[in-house]
Amino acid sequence: MKISEIKLRIIPDSRDKDTLEGILRSANLEASGQVPSGKSTGKTEAAVVAPQKALEKVNWLNSQIKDHEFATLEEFDHFLISLDGTLNKQNLGGNTILSLSMAFTRLLAKQAGVELFEMISKISGNQVKLPFCFFNLIEGGVHAENSLPFQEYLFIPQVRSAKESLEMVTNTVKLLGDKINKEYGSKEMGDEGGFTIAAQDPLVGLQVLQQLIDQDKLKGKIGLDVAASVLLKDGKYQAGDKSLSRQDLIDLYQKIADEFSVLSMEDPFDEEDWQGFSQLASQIGDKIWIIGDDLLTTNVGRIQKAYQEQAVNAVLIKPNQIGSVSETIQAVNLAKSYGWKIVVSHRSGETRDTFIADLAVGVGADGLKSGCPLQKERLVKYERLVEIESSL
Ligand code: PEP
Ligand code: MG
Repeated sequence: MKISEIKLRIIPDSRDKDTLEGILRSANLEASGQVPSGKSTGKTEAAVVAPQKALEKVNWLNSQIKDHEFATLEEFDHFLISLDGTLNKQNLGGNTILSLSMAFTRLLAKQAGVELFEMISKISGNQVKLPFCFFNLIEGGVHAENSLPFQEYLFIPQVRSAKESLEMVTNTVKLLGDKINKEYGSKEMGDEGGFTIAAQDPLVGLQVLQQLIDQDKLKGKIGLDVAASVLLKDGKYQAGDKSLSRQDLIDLYQKIADEFSVLSMEDPFDEEDWQGFSQLASQIGDKIWIIGDDLLTTNVGRIQKAYQEQAVNAVLIKPNQIGSVSETIQAVNLAKSYGWKIVVSHRSGETRDTFIADLAVGVGADGLKSGCPLQKERLVKYERLVEIESSL
């Protein structure tokens, strides 16, 4: 495929910050991709360039790309990555490259007359599968001021149907809103549209969700994203008013695994605390998905290291951590070869692009994490899953 025009546009994200939309034209086809941005970011993520700076490179990009023929997504991505010429994509930005890589994936689907998830399934060599929905209902950490120290308390319906999951969470959100209002009087919402609770004890979020699950006999489990990198200060993890050592945290997670119906724990330790991850995985990894996010940054090098260290049994996949679709697919396939669970994820600053829903289905992921459906940018991704489900 030849690209006749590259365009970049600045659009607002869910936090009203500028982000990029990349648009590609090929013959009579056009496609686009919008990129999100993180707040609790991993240190080894691809660089992000200011959207205004990215726009200044468009003419040069157009001059470089004309006359090139791309047979595959990988060829297209490698072309941009070599134009960038750095290890962390700091010249063009992972955001610029990813927006164009998403657009190119969509162009391939359009050209072939197939759905995006079908094209991703073909490119990645994976069978289409519907993921569990990981709904972030209670927020804390850096995504919600004056709330709990852990970043996310997720409700995960244990049904494969996206339609049923969305119906279940809609009901749960109503009950949860009433409960939090009555018991804690919190009115603020977090960055991803979830509720906040003005409490210091990280167990409170778990207790609230567990009570709801038990009381209404909900077919659902709980997920946690501790986002522990932001808690580490001077060698200790600061969780609310508590200062915890690695071993204190391991004891806390063991207690959580024993007392609550928890399916997953994401980033339970700092992104360089490999020992914490390995100890926890050997202790409770047979029951709980230990998910690496900041630890792994969708990066095959770090995924390999985590396999050697036996640090996790699941990976969070965020395309903008690595900065292209083909590298994202490589990360998924490597993690799959280790037998790990795959959870595709949005970022805390999101757009209305639904690409990650197709990505999750196309690579046959086990989970899709896209925040709380009360916020439009999050809801559209779950709705896209429902749409895909009805087409299967
Ligand atoms: C996360 O940590 O999983 C997350 C979605 O947050 P952010 O996008 O801020 O990294
Ligand atoms: Mg995370």
